[in-house]
This record gives sequence, structure tokens and C-alpha cells, in this order.
Amino acid sequence: MTNIRDHIGADNPEDIAGVRRRLLRWYDREQRDMPWRHTSDPYHIWVSEIMLQQTRVEAVIPYYKNFLRQFPSVAHLARASNERVLTSWSGLGYYSRARNLHRAAKRVQSDHGGVFPVEEQAALDLPGVGRYTASAILSIAYGVPLAVLDGNVARVLSRLRTVRAEVKNTAGRKTLWRLAQEILDTRRPGDFNQAMMELGATICLPGQPRCGSCPLRKDCRAHLQDVTGEYPPARVRAREKSLKLVAAVVWDRAGKYLLERRPASSSWLAGFWELPMWPAAAQTSKNGHSGSSSKARLKLVRPLGTIRHSITQFRIEVEVWQAVVTNNKQADFETKSSKWVDLAAIKKLPATTITRKALAMIGERKEEQE
Ligand code: SF4
Repeated sequence: MTNIRDHIGADNPEDIAGVRRRLLRWYDREQRDMPWRHTSDPYHIWVSEIMLQQTRVEAVIPYYKNFLRQFPSVAHLARASNERVLTSWSGLGYYSRARNLHRAAKRVQSDHGGVFPVEEQAALDLPGVGRYTASAILSIAYGVPLAVLDGNVARVLSRLRTVRAEVKNTAGRKTLWRLAQEILDTRRPGDFNQAMMELGATICLPGQPRCGSCPLRKDCRAHLQDVTGEYPPARVRAREKSLKLVAAVVWDRAGKYLLERRPASSSWLAGFWELPMWPAAAQTSKNGHSGSSSKARLKLVRPLGTIRHSITQFRIEVEVWQAVVTNNKQADFETKSSKWVDLAAIKKLPATTITRKALAMIGERKEEQE
């Protein structure tokens, strides 16, 4: 049976104006303080948008500040080495973002005079800039009337209009982009986009939306029909794969640790430095040696603990072992892809999070060696 309230809400142009007004008023009053909200510099906004992809605001803030201290302009970033850029990103994860940002900075410097382009297509042509990122940067920095769509905005739209559309699905995404563009306040597109994302992040939460505190509670169909739990439709999640690894912590008398560099062809964390590591299944348990060729020169002598870590669809469990070099020839490991490094130098290298966690875990235990 149709509820009379099906007919109110954002279908009516007057109500759309009301939604915009109520949302912006709420945003002006309640927005969280974030460093990138104090600037209209397109480069700063660009950096923040890239860092915020898949990452929480609180985690991003220190990286954002440090990154801009190190690379205060597109020109600084464009001429920095890959290694410096990756080091400053180290710990933030999803490193392809850093590589793309670096490549894009070189392009902006050479093709656009060091200024992020204002045209949508030119922005989309940059590495790492998709539709969401282009719209976010252009609307916030330049006031271009382009809507954004991320998980938060999709959830708000789905509930506001009781639309069974899912952002991970092509047809659903198309519908949601259209709705997002329709509802956008073209006079303040940057603020409106941020307000929608803010509402999704703080009020219109995935499990329990806080409708009582929502500025759109009188406009929202899902709330008025008491069906917020049904929107957005449940998604069938891809199952995480589990991966078991062994990591060897080897240190020499000078307190340097053996690190290896991941191949440039690696599908994730290419070029990063890490402890020697291999699949747990490759370990031959009787003699404690690994099964891989380079690791065959290491002998595992003592378990140090276990680290659990998640990367995209992988749930990784790493057994960390103290190890020694079997033939005592440390020089054998001084190659292009392996070296001995002290802790201070490791801090300046792009090192994997698992490696940083393992080194933090062993702490003072290195004095106990042999
Ligand atoms: S009223 Fe509730 S469900 Fe609707 S937009 Fe607000 S928080 Fe989300």
C-alpha cells in the first residue's frame, strides 16, 4: 500500500531546495575541523582527497601535514625522488595512490604550469584521478558544479529516496550518480559535496543511522517509512583470502637488520623494503630453513611472535622469527635488492607496515642474540 509520505521528499523541486538548505545549514554549524577545510589551494585539496581514499580522517591528518611540509607545492612533489615520496607515505597504505600522485604531479607541472587543471577531462586524464576525485577537487577548489559519489553519499541518497541502488554495482552506481547530480547545490557545490559526505560519516551511519540528529529527517523517505535498515541494499561481500607468511628478523653485530626490496613487478608494495619473507608453506619445519633460494641462506632460530595485518582482500598472518645467516657471509646480502640497514635509516626508507610492526615487536630483544 502506498504511503502518503511516499509522495513527499526530494522529488519535489521545492523540497530539493529545502534539502539543500537544511543540509548546508547543518554543515556550516556542525562540520568537523580538518586541515584541508582551511584552504582552497587545489594542490592541498588534491593531496587530501587522494589520502582520504580508503583511509580514515584521523589517520590521514598527520600524513597530510607532513606530506605538505616535505612537498609544499606541485613543483616540489614533481621533482622529488620516488623513494622520498613513498617514504613519506609509508604506513598510510594503498601505495599506488602515492605513485600515481607523484606521476600526476609531474604531468601537472609539465602540462598545466604546476596548477591542477580546472577542466574535468584534463583532471580525469591524470593518473589516479577518477570521477569521484576529479569532482571532489574541482567542486571544492574551483566551485565547479560536479557531484561526488562515495560510499557515504551513496548511503544517504539510497535512504533519502528509498532507492535500491548499490554503489559497487554498475547500474546502481549510474542511478546514484544521477541522483547525486540532481540534488547538488550548484551555488555551493564543494560545501554541498562535503556536507553529504560528512552526513554519511557522522550521522547516516551504516548500521544505526542517528536519524534523531539528522537535518534531513523530515525529507528522508527511509526514516519516515521506518525502513532505514533496508537501505542501502545488503551487498554480497567478496570473501577475504588468508595468507600465512614467515618473516625473518636478522641483525648483525652493528645492530643493522637485513632488508630485501620487493620487485618492481610486484602487484602490491612494489619497490618497498621488507624483512625477508616467504609463504609459511615453504618453510621446512625440521631444520628451520626456508624453501626459497635466497632465504635458504637463513636459519630460523627462535619464534618472536605473530603479526596480523589486512591488505585489500588479504588477511595476512605473519610468524616472525629471529634468524641467522647460515654461512656467516653477510656481504652476500649486499645486493641491489637486499642490504643491512640500521633502525634510523629504516625510518627513512619506504618499508612495509608488516616490517615496521615486526621491528617494533622485537624491541629490545636483539641484545639476546647468540
Ligand atoms: S533521516 Fe536517518 S536515514 Fe535518513 S538521511 Fe538522515 S540519518 Fe540517514
